[in-house]
Amino acid sequence: MKVDVLILGGGLAGLSAAHHLGLRGARSRLVVEAKDTVGGTAGSVTTRGFTFDYTGHLLHLHDPYGKSLILDLLKENVASHERKAWIYSQGAYTRYPFQANTKGLPPETVAECLAGFLETVHRPRALPSDPDFLSWCRATFGDGITRRFMRPYNEKLWRTPLQKLTTEWQGRFVPKPSPSEVIYGALADQNKLFGYNASFRYPVKGGIQALPDALAERLEPGVVRFESPVIAVDLREKVAEVKGLGQVHYERLVNTLPLNVFLDLATPLPADVKAARKNLRWNTVWNLNVGIDRTAPADKHWIYYPEKKYPFYRVGYSSNFSPHLAPEGHAALYLEAARPGGVRVDRDKLELAMIKGLRDAGLLRRSDEISAKIWMPVPVGYVVYDRARTPAVNAIFRHLNSLGVESIGRYGGWKYSFMEETILDGKRCAERLTGGELAAETGSTAELRALK
Ligand SMILES: Cc1cc2nc3c(=O)[nH]c(=O)nc-3n(C[C@H](O)[C@H](O)[C@H](O)COP(=O)(O)OP(=O)(O)OC[C@H]3O[C@@H](n4cnc5c(N)ncnc54)[C@H](O)[C@@H]3O)c2cc1C
Repeated sequence: MKVDVLILGGGLAGLSAAHHLGLRGARSRLVVEAKDTVGGTAGSVTTRGFTFDYTGHLLHLHDPYGKSLILDLLKENVASHERKAWIYSQGAYTRYPFQANTKGLPPETVAECLAGFLETVHRPRALPSDPDFLSWCRATFGDGITRRFMRPYNEKLWRTPLQKLTTEWQGRFVPKPSPSEVIYGALADQNKLFGYNASFRYPVKGGIQALPDALAERLEPGVVRFESPVIAVDLREKVAEVKGLGQVHYERLVNTLPLNVFLDLATPLPADVKAARKNLRWNTVWNLNVGIDRTAPADKHWIYYPEKKYPFYRVGYSSNFSPHLAPEGHAALYLEAARPGGVRVDRDKLELAMIKGLRDAGLLRRSDEISAKIWMPVPVGYVVYDRARTPAVNAIFRHLNSLGVESIGRYGGWKYSFMEETILDGKRCAERLTGGELAAETGSTAELRALK
């Protein structure tokens, strides 16, 4: 088999690359997907009348083109929501983000958080140009907020000591309230929406799977080959070994598989790239989805759990994103725990701890019946931004660039990003491959430039 462009993976990045290549007249393109559905991490599974995503998958639309494409794909099958997000700690619910909403916590905690924050205003700490995340939290929010939320929550999520994390990833994702907002939120219920995900859109029917399905419908039949995992790639000979298809020769290769997985399939790799591969770190998101025979509380979309006594870092009510995700009178919940990537996990033990955690947190009552339960782990969930990540990614992309290989999406690009950006990654990749306006800049050079 021979194609101009071979795309590895039929998640949003691969589908978007194929779609935009088609729009630009490139006909000879093939997407090989390991599973029997498109969507990858932005997919959904339906069981016992519940539809579950890989945890919460909400649409944050910031780019005019991304927004218009996504809304056009979903047409009337989309609704807007204002975020209802909470933190549960010390037995109290406080609004997200923690740093702007401490009212409701024990008075000594409020005082500790407020005093620490005011210290940062009156006696700002000097930070180096590339501080570690822990020092940055202390300098930005103070010791109290760091001790009560930033540190325990982020350690549960990243599974990495925060001194080892950089701050490259946090700009868009960690809201920074003003002093008056922090003070007001310590005294009163500040119902103000902070941050990049203050409002979101979500499909009315079909879960987030509706989005990749709609994108795949824009492709001609046969462009996506299902149950066709790539098992090896010879980068020098430009040929991929694909289960069920045999050898596929290509002119250009677009990878959307997690970078670690792709490099483990690819040969030959020079020594510096092999060494860089060893420096890639990630976490696995252990997502347990649960359906219960009671409706969800109307005032909550999701809740953060910074305390160690709860095994999950976040629990969400997906049936509050759309009632179609659960049978009438039922609620769909997603529970998220994280472990370092590649570490073996005793799933039965974790499941018992997760269900106990739900009971301890008061989300599951003795009288509730669990109507559905399904594990949907994300093996490469979050890329860990430690000190080794950027030099490693630079070395890997330099090499892939030299071979004309594109590596895009959240995982191919080895970054912290979201669905709209992933779709835009595919568009930009198609433009580069077809000599569009961004022709001079490959994905890898864009990444290198952004990191400078
Ligand atoms: C826990 C979590 C929560 C998230 N929440 C949100 C959110 O609320 N909003 C948001 O916008 N974004 C969210 N995201 C990000 C979003 O999931 C990603 O941006 C997007 O889905 C990435 O798509 P992708 O195509 O880059 O990768 P993937 O979806 O991982 O696609 C890769 C594809 O490659 C396939 N594949 C793997 N191995 C092979 C092989 N050997 N051969 C062939 N195919 C293979 C996979 O099956 C998959 O289909 C979240 C991510 C996670 C992990």
